[in-house]
Amino acid sequence: MYNNEQPDELLKLKKKTFFQKIFTTEYNIGFGTPTTDACSKCIELKGKVKNKTNAQTKNKFMTDMAFHKMRYKAFFRKLQEKREDLLTLSFYCQKNLVLPKVQDQTAYYSRQIYIYNNFSIVKGSSKDGLSPENVFCYTWMEHEHKKGANEIASAVFHQLSILELLASVSTIRLCADGCGGQNRNSIIIGMLHYFLAKVAPPNIKEIQVIFPITGHSFLPDRVFASIEKKLQHSTIFRPGTDLNIYDWKTFAETYFKKTGSWHFKFNEAKRFILTKSAQQNVLLRGETSYNSDISTGKLIVKKGIKIKSATLPGQIPMGVALKAVKIQDVKNLLKKHFGETWTTMEECSFYQNVLETMTAIHEAEDLEQDEFCEGHENEQLADRV
Ligand SMILES: [Zn+2]
Repeated sequence: MYNNEQPDELLKLKKKTFFQKIFTTEYNIGFGTPTTDACSKCIELKGKVKNKTNAQTKNKFMTDMAFHKMRYKAFFRKLQEKREDLLTLSFYCQKNLVLPKVQDQTAYYSRQIYIYNNFSIVKGSSKDGLSPENVFCYTWMEHEHKKGANEIASAVFHQLSILELLASVSTIRLCADGCGGQNRNSIIIGMLHYFLAKVAPPNIKEIQVIFPITGHSFLPDRVFASIEKKLQHSTIFRPGTDLNIYDWKTFAETYFKKTGSWHFKFNEAKRFILTKSAQQNVLLRGETSYNSDISTGKLIVKKGIKIKSATLPGQIPMGVALKAVKIQDVKNLLKKHFGETWTTMEECSFYQNVLETMTAIHEAEDLEQDEFCEGHENEQLADRV
């Protein structure tokens, strides 16, 4: 591969063993399957405990470790809890599937199109089994919609709107995985205000949103980790056909105060609790702990705003511009893998169709990417290694 791309004869590699020797003796590179439950904080603290000889500092790190463990266990207990009056939904950003799906080494280095953005919602506690009745997969292609807060909030809104709720349920608990920065969460909270005030049946009195501590998304929970393998056991929804993507971001900006002026520290909150107020409004409180309730519920809407009179935000039309260079990379990769005639090959017709729509829609060069799940893209690379 190197030789093929090296135009200068002098720089071409003559002996494979020369490079092989350097590679095997000068680098300390290992290949293996990454452990899915590795959390950087856990690794850091374990290392600190191991390396410290001073008893006092060692003790300090051991306490930190115990506290950290306690926090993530508290989150999982929330995820597992089962009660008559409680319905749990958990949402999970899955790794994106790439186009084209080829095993070539070159695929590591070229830009691929994330053809499917996957976002799953599971109904029920993590102790319940997985079936199409409780696993819902929202999927769309990279050139159709972004994978941003609007899309995620719209998928959750759709799921909440079609829920068949038992009369005994008064609380809906949403457990989110670590995807997306905290700052994006205000958009989901805005959407939930709308849902609670305008869409939810009268028996729903409270909505909770719970976030895991950094480093521990759902992956350690084997049930959720296995969703990827159980895609066929889910009900699939596609934006445009099954649901609309609404501009919940603009909605949040229109009706709510900026997170900095809320009555609790937004960035530190792990739990957000929305309740109906007597005046047909919604009260919100944020808690930094998973178990103690110390904050008080207050309005976060702008002065004079009643969420009950808010209107549904506008829809976001389908169609996302992709960088022309990226599309070219995909074409090159297909050519490399299937040969010059890939455009006429039957097995490539799917790619051919998708690529046609892509170039036909947009030809933009420099676009800002509004990725919601940056962290999960690395995972995919790790998996491939
Ligand atoms: Zn950890």
